[in-house]
Parts: sequence; structure tokens; C-alpha cells
Amino acid sequence: MTASPATPLGEPTILPAPVYAAIIAHSRAGKPEEVCGILRGVGLAAYEAIPGHNIAAERIENYEVDPQTLLRQFEFEEAGEAMMGIYHSHPVSVAYPSATDAWNAHYPDALYFICSLEHDDAPVVRAFRMTPYFLDLDYVALRDALGFYETRPGLWGYFQAQERPLPSLLANLGVRAPFYIVCAVDADGTVEGRVVEITEHPVMVTPA
Ligand SMILES: [Zn+2]
Repeated sequence: MTASPATPLGEPTILPAPVYAAIIAHSRAGKPEEVCGILRGVGLAAYEAIPGHNIAAERIENYEVDPQTLLRQFEFEEAGEAMMGIYHSHPVSVAYPSATDAWNAHYPDALYFICSLEHDDAPVVRAFRMTPYFLDLDYVALRDALGFYETRPGLWGYFQAQERPLPSLLANLGVRAPFYIVCAVDADGTVEGRVVEITEHPVMVTPA
């Protein structure tokens, strides 16, 4: 995806300036690979960025937060806080979720922060909620009819922009655009798919 599609806005998310700076510094240090981490906070307010390790096999265009870092969410919860966000970098692309990001969005209660270094002197941090719908659809038929693209081996994606007419096959989906449809077909033919709705939460950087 090269452009940034129109996306409905939710409530702003609050990033104190040091948290915002930490995400950008971590993203820059990791270039050309994607970096990732988590955000401690409450609701839409972040308190701290905790860098994680990217354990994905293909770190140039994918990320997976290491389990030790993810486990810290339980420590936050004991303190009455939460893992309010997960961040990762896009070293050369826009700050918008990819089909792979939609596939990897396992925490519907967390915001997904993306730091784009597409223009290195002007980093962009945006935040999105990605809500998965586990709909009982014939994903392979949809893939073949709508021309999903293979985003990585075995993973197929389709992006429905808000401004594009909904194909008749998707007329009764009940999910508002923009959304991804993602499906994985593994070697033995097992198909797993879902529809992932995207909402943007404007990032407000506040003084520390
Ligand atoms: Zn991404």
C-alpha cells in the first residue's frame, strides 16, 4: 500500500513526548528491520514505551513481539494498568496497517501504533484499533473471486477502502470499511480467515 486510505477516527490517544520520542528512537535504531514493543498505560493514555525484541523470521517487513515482553502485561494489570498499545516500525512504508499487520492483530483491546520512517527526517506515528471478526465465510472462494494478493507465502489479503464500492459478494458482511479480509491456507489445505476492521485514533503528543 502506498497511499494512506480514508479511515474513521476514534478518540485521540495521548502520548507523552518522551514516549513518542522513545518509539521513534527505537524505530531508527532498528532500521532497516522493523522493531516492536509495547505501551504501558490506561485506556487511551500511554505512560511508557517498553522496547521488545522482534522475533519474526522476516524482520524487514514483519514483526512479532517476543513473549517475555508480552508477559509484562500481567504485571501492568496487577498495578491497575494495561498493555494499552503495541508499536512497530515501518522502515520504508507509510504508517498504515498492512494485511500482515491485520493478520497479526491479536489484541483487539490494544491500539496498534505504527512509526513510519518513510521520510527519515520526518517520522510519523499513527495509532489504529484493529477489530477482528471471525466470520464463517468461504475465504478461498472470496480470494479467487476478488483477487486477493499473496502478502507472504500462504497468507492472502484484500483491502476494502472506504471510498470504493463494496463488491456485491461483500454486501452482507456487516463490517464497515476500511477493512482487510485476510486468510491463511496452509500446506495441508487448512483455511483460517477473518475480517479486520480499522479505526484510527489520532495521536496527541503532550509535554511530559
Ligand atoms: Zn506493519
